Formats: sequence, C-alpha cells, structure tokens
Amino acid sequence: MNPFINLGIRHDIVNAISELGFENPTPIQEQSIPVLLTGSNDFVGLAQTGTGKTAAFGLPLLELLDFEENYPQALVLCPTRELCLQITNDIKNYSKKMSNVNVVAVYGGASISDQLRQIKRGVQIVVATPGRMLDIINRKAIDFSQVKFVVLDEADEMLNMGFQEDIDSILSTTPDTKKTWLFSATMPTEVRRIAKKYMNEPFELTMGTKNTGNANIEHEYYIVRARDKYAAFKRIVDFNPDIFGIVFCRTKIETQDIAEALLKDGYNADSLHGDLSQQQRDKVMKRYRDRSLQLLIATDVAARGIDVNDVTHVINYSLPDEVENYTHRSGRTARAGKTGVSISIINAKELGKIRQIERGLGKKFVKAEIPTGFDVCEKQLFSIVHKIHDVQVNEQQIEQYLPRIMEEFKDLTKEDFIKRFASIEFNRFLDYYKNAPDLNAPLEEGRRFERDGERAPRGEGGGKSEYTRLFINLGSVDEFNRGDLLGYICNQSKISGRTVGKIDVKGVYSFFEVPNADVEKVMGGFTNAEFKGRPVRIEISGEGSSERREGGGGGGGYQRREGGYNRERSGGGERREGGYRGNNGGDRNGSAGGGFRDFSGKRKEDRPERRRRF
Ligand code: AMP
Repeated sequence: MNPFINLGIRHDIVNAISELGFENPTPIQEQSIPVLLTGSNDFVGLAQTGTGKTAAFGLPLLELLDFEENYPQALVLCPTRELCLQITNDIKNYSKKMSNVNVVAVYGGASISDQLRQIKRGVQIVVATPGRMLDIINRKAIDFSQVKFVVLDEADEMLNMGFQEDIDSILSTTPDTKKTWLFSATMPTEVRRIAKKYMNEPFELTMGTKNTGNANIEHEYYIVRARDKYAAFKRIVDFNPDIFGIVFCRTKIETQDIAEALLKDGYNADSLHGDLSQQQRDKVMKRYRDRSLQLLIATDVAARGIDVNDVTHVINYSLPDEVENYTHRSGRTARAGKTGVSISIINAKELGKIRQIERGLGKKFVKAEIPTGFDVCEKQLFSIVHKIHDVQVNEQQIEQYLPRIMEEFKDLTKEDFIKRFASIEFNRFLDYYKNAPDLNAPLEEGRRFERDGERAPRGEGGGKSEYTRLFINLGSVDEFNRGDLLGYICNQSKISGRTVGKIDVKGVYSFFEVPNADVEKVMGGFTNAEFKGRPVRIEISGEGSSERREGGGGGGGYQRREGGYNRERSGGGERREGGYRGNNGGDRNGSAGGGFRDFSGKRKEDRPERRRRF
C-alpha cells in the first residue's frame, strides 16, 4: 500500500501521485501532512526548495476544500511566475482523478483578461504572484472573503523581492478565520516578523537547522587569481563532462559577458537576466528545462524560483553578498533527493566570505584544486569511453550501413579501432590543454591565508607535516566521490574517518592523506585488496602536491604514477612513462573528420582557445 494512505490522503489522490512516481513521502511531507490535514493550525515550515513542499501543502488543500462549491477557498502566494506555473501544474496533476477541481494561475507578464475569465468561471484554488494578484483585487474581480487557507510559499524570496506591502494588502482582503501556512527556505528576521504578524501560535516544522542548506549538497571552493577566473571556470566545466549547471553572476553584464564568451568557446550556454523580455526568458528556460542548454548563466533575481530537477552543479562565478542568497543558489541543485555540488570560484581576498557562509550554513566547505590539463584530458577520455560503451544502438537504422562501415574498418584491429574512437574527442582536449598552466593560486598566497586564519591543506605549506599523502588507483571513473572513497578507505584499513585528511578524487586515481602513524596500517589494510576484480594499489605519494604541476601537459609530470596505471596501459596503450604522449602519442588519424558533436550539437573542434579576462 502506498504510505500516503497512512498519512490520511484519499485513494483518488494517492492514485494520481503514484502515477507521478511518489512512492514514499519526503520528510517534509511525512511531518507536515498530518498536521495540515487537521485544518486547524497556522503553520511555519522551514524547508529548502526541491524537498517536496508543493505536495506537502497541495495534498492537504485538496483534502480540506469543498469542490462542490466554486468560490476561492485557498490562495497560494509565491514569488515568481515560474513557481506559480509549477505549483498550479502540480496541484492539477495531484487532482487529476478528482472532479470539479479548479485551479487558476495568476501572474504578471501574461494576459490579464484570460486570468480574469478563468476566475469568473469559478475557482477554488488561486496560485498567484503578489503584484498581479493585487492588480486583480484592485479591479474588484475576485472575492477572498471566504478563503480558508493562505499559503505563503518561499516567503523569504517574496520579501527579498520587495513584496511585503503587496502581501499585506492582499491578506487584508482575506478573513481573520483563515489559516496561514508559511514555507521558507531561510528564516531571516523579516520572515519571523511576518510569521508573527499573520499567525497565531503556528505549528513550526524545521527540516534541518536554520539556514542550513540541503544535506545532499557538497560545497567546494577554488582559489584562483582574479585574472584566471574564467579559464579556471572553463576547466572545471571541462572536468565535468556531464555537467548540467546554473552559473551565478552578480550583474546582468557579467552574465552576458560570460555566456557570450562561453558560446564563442563552443560551450552550450545562455544567459538569464532581468533585461530579457518575458518571452526571451521563457525561451531560455524552456531550452534549459529540455536540457538542450547545458549551462544557464543567471543573476540571483532572474534565477529565483527555477525548479529544474537534475541540476548537477551550481557555480558561484561571483559570490553573493548574503548567506541567504547562497542558500537559494545552492538549493537549485540536489533537488528531490538527488545529490549536487555547489562550487565557488574565489580569489584569496574572498576567503573571509566563504568562512562567513560556512558559519551561516553551519557547514564546512571543501577547498578543492583546479584540475590540471592532464586531469581534464583523462576525465574526458573516460567520459567518451563510457558514452561509447553505453550508447543505445538503433539496430534497425544502422543495419543498412553496416556492410559499408565494416568495409571501411576492415584493415583495423579491434584495439586500433577502439583507440581511434576514443581519440576523436581526446585529441582535441590534449591539444587544448597541452601547455595548460596550474591555475591554483600559488603557495605564497596559501601562506597568506594561513595568517588570515585559514589552515593550509595538510601536508602542504612548509614545515614538517604529520600527514602522509597516499596514492590509490581508484577514482571517479570507478564511481567514487570523496565520501565513497573515505568510506572505502576506512572500511578497508579500519581507521576512523576523522583521522583522514584531504581527499582528492581524480579520474582513474585519487590521493588521500592519513596521519604518518597510520600509514603502515592503511597500506597493510589494502594488501591483496581488489576492487571489482582489479588489484587495488596504494603508494606513498611524492613531495606534497608537486606531482600535480603540469610540466607542459603530457610531457614532464606524473612520473610517480607510472606504476599505477597498469590497467590503462595494458588496455589502451596511450600512456607512456611520465604521462600521456601529448600530441605525438595519440593516433592522430583518429581525429580526422572529427564527427562527434558536443552537447550543443556544435562541433567541439570549433572551440577556439579564447582566454578572456574578466
Ligand atoms: P517541490 O519541492 O515541491 O518543488 O518538489 C521537488 C520535486 O520532487 C518535484 O519534481 C516533485 O515532483 C518531486 N517530489 C515531491 N514529492 C515527492 C515524493 N514523495 N516522491 C517522489 N518525488 C517527489
């Protein structure tokens, strides 16, 4: 039986939400639905976007209203047109097996006469943005005198956007007997104040602690010189081939500049900001939702209410001024139980801001390092290898071409063929990154952070370290993230997770730090260890982070890891001592013709290196 039944939701609604894939209530639904179903409380729910808030209030509304009657009984106020449409659509979906449910979306930037007509026809639930709602009230086109429930969704956002007075005016047209349910991702004093003003001993529900972001979000920051910011950002994007991200900038100009630069560099990006017409914004959002756009470059205001699932990364190209804004930005990822990463690219002077946000969120951010050109090439190589492996073949369509294809490839061995396929993309990245510099701010700056109260990463920053950096031949291609790797290491070597220092997960390998005293124990724990049938290798890493320096792309660095790549070497043969062969080593014929298209459908070969400085 679907557990929503036990929460008190009736069968026709449960059947509808089952079809939407709601098999179990989310924590906020589990805790708020029984309370709201009583219909007798005011309610304050502190919860992030993407946690299932809409059903948390939408399902109880469907239970509590009288759909035999056709007058406004519930009003849901929310900050943006996007969210307004989303909520309306969600409630319609929840109620699709019920009769006589009328929900109207009231929002600016669309024909008011259509909305007036719908209201006139009769409606029980009005979902509205405050400005347009007030306009309709002022036209005396709606009667809220019998409203039983008012929902203030994303209350903090509505206040941020200056809707306080509009909300006051709207609520003054509703009866005192109504119940008010307020949802907010953060609880600044202004929200407390409106809770106090409109509510009578509300039932309070806090999912997580005050202002705490979603637990599924990993927060990382990168320290770069201001002039390297754009290059660093691109490198992070290249290191995440499947990124589906929102990039936050502080100004419209910045969003436009970055989107433009990215487009010129062959990325699939567009900007969203307040100077666009509603129609233009809808178009950009539609492309993003459909995933035909990979990177959305947005200002805080324009990105409010964006509720696209599956956003993998939020990138703070510029940090926001307020902790609350950071919470809102990062809340665009890790929705609906998924995980996500919120990345901040900062310069050394902004470290204090990161500390401030950490304090506000009560969460420690991870200092990450801009991947080297080598790391990017490796990641891209395995991304393409996985794509080739997993691609769905349309047997019917391709059948007719098979004889010709076979003929073309008849002189190639299987190994040659595989190398060529993998090299199509790989060669381009090798070319691009062959002389890529280290973009992490230099150590002298790192020392300065120490003076400013920042602890240098363990094992770096001079002095004798109490930690040893170890290399392990497992990485992100083995589907390890930092947390997984930490668990694996602790499990294998029976040491406490707290003693493990910095963990750096790369493509086919990783580094992690353990106290000097534990090195033997850890290495011993991996004796004869295997992962998915492969021997696991642990080695003591070279001098601190020096092996990361890119001695001119494929050329100089990485000697130390030579032994760690048996599986790649025996498989692909692209690697020699000291790293990739660079341009000379790969099979250049493989790139001839360059048929692969990237996410945007653009040829990646068309991406010129353009080092724009911002
Ligand atoms: P919301 O916070 O209401 O915007 O919901 C975020 C996403 O989670 C939406 O795509 C919902 O459809 C989805 N969702 C909400 N509740 C559930 C549930 N109980 N099971 C599965 N998905 C859900």
